Amino acid sequence: STAAAQIHLLLSQFRQASATPLHRLRQLADAMTAEMHSGLMSEGGSEQLKMLPTYVENLPHGDEEGLFYAVDLGGTNFRVLRVQLGGKEKRIVKQEYQEVAIPPELMQGTSKELFDFIAKKLASFVAREGEGFEAHSGHVRELGFAFSFPVLQTSVKSGILVHWTKGFKISDAIGKDIVAAFEEAIGRKGDHIRVAALVNDTVGTLAGGRYWNEDTMLSVILGTGTNACYIEQVDAVPKWRGAPPKSGEVIINMEWGNFRSPYLPRTFADEEVDIDSVNPGDQWFEKMISGMYLGEIVRCVLAKFAQEAALFGGPIISPKLLEPFSLGTPYVSKIHSDESADLTEVARILKDVFEIRRTTFQERKIVHDICDIIAERGARLAAAGIVGILNKIGRDHGPTATNGSYLSSRRSKTVVAMDGGLYEHYTQYQVYMRAAIDEMLSETAAQSVVIELSKDGSGIGTALLAASHSQYH
Ligand code: ADP
Ligand code: MG
Repeated sequence: STAAAQIHLLLSQFRQASATPLHRLRQLADAMTAEMHSGLMSEGGSEQLKMLPTYVENLPHGDEEGLFYAVDLGGTNFRVLRVQLGGKEKRIVKQEYQEVAIPPELMQGTSKELFDFIAKKLASFVAREGEGFEAHSGHVRELGFAFSFPVLQTSVKSGILVHWTKGFKISDAIGKDIVAAFEEAIGRKGDHIRVAALVNDTVGTLAGGRYWNEDTMLSVILGTGTNACYIEQVDAVPKWRGAPPKSGEVIINMEWGNFRSPYLPRTFADEEVDIDSVNPGDQWFEKMISGMYLGEIVRCVLAKFAQEAALFGGPIISPKLLEPFSLGTPYVSKIHSDESADLTEVARILKDVFEIRRTTFQERKIVHDICDIIAERGARLAAAGIVGILNKIGRDHGPTATNGSYLSSRRSKTVVAMDGGLYEHYTQYQVYMRAAIDEMLSETAAQSVVIELSKDGSGIGTALLAASHSQYH
């Protein structure tokens, strides 16, 4: 029928607009590398990548001991956790965490409301400290705070919020010291807990990776949002002020979610998602690849197909299909992994989420294809970003190359520490990302790159950073 032909035309146009062939990925990786250079040159050297130095000098080695806490404020949830560290041999003796959903109204309220809420949850978590956890007598409890928004740090214990991302909009917090705001809230609860380290979740994840594996050079978050950090030589950071760190290395929080390039395969759906967001014009890379947005992109495409080509029968369109963020990304991965002959899971989701009761197999197949296109594009763009970093640190040629640009040429592996619910739960996304990395690199280089998922790595890593920055040693 003509309606079916029209849908297939729309689908093939969309597929083409979303394409990420190898040469595109290479252009993007190169653009990322070039932008990294600019961002390191001077404050504001890149309009996209902040390339923030982090002031974390002591990555954990494994010999840390004692009880440490972390608060990990990501985007959707925040986690409070405690770890009992037993040193080189015993490592993490015990760990416990609690996850708390952030009430949506707090994401757009005042900073006092947000931090009072977090401090209250922290206080009740600390109060339930039980067997197997032991604070050193006479020591104040120490906490690492993973705060996953762009922060301009002035020391490892302080930092000014530059702006919000991921749906947060708390204007009075911008320009303020995040640690001071948090410690004041903790103080109002009457607790004695010291913030020993303020870090980005990428830095927590890097630290968590390092604790187990010395070859960890970079970390990537693929959760609600996306970001990356990596270990850079201080000589390669012209904007570095003050004495160079003893190690000669600095950890750079890229804030790569704001990367943009004419090579990004943007479609009408990306425009729509961006315009309707709380931060239009910002975070284009993040909006194409991370968990907060993939479901929304799929929804926009389905809505357009329904409006323009009567996908799902028409002429009346389900109101749910027109409702922003009605389709969460977990549904995208569920649709994607439906391998049943008649796509029964897809049918169920269309019914549950959009109240579309009857669908044809052809329609379900189109929904499945759209999820595939959008997830594959996201995963491949993330891969291009990773290769851009490998390129910057000379790890894109594999261990046998002799271009002399390695931080340490003896290393045979480069480990990417990964955290985030999107990567963790979305198997096909993992597969697409790995495939793209392998496509972009030579065989030896590809074999040297190991992606290690550390579930809640950012939280545990942040507690480890509290340990390695403890005032008691
Ligand atoms: P944060 O980034 O806030 O720290 P997480 O790392 O837990 O949070 O990631 C949460 C995100 O992961 C959600 O926004 C969601 O989009 C995505 N996610 C969670 N479960 C799945 C799933 N089964 N499939 C795909 N994405 C998922
Ligand atoms: Mg997180």
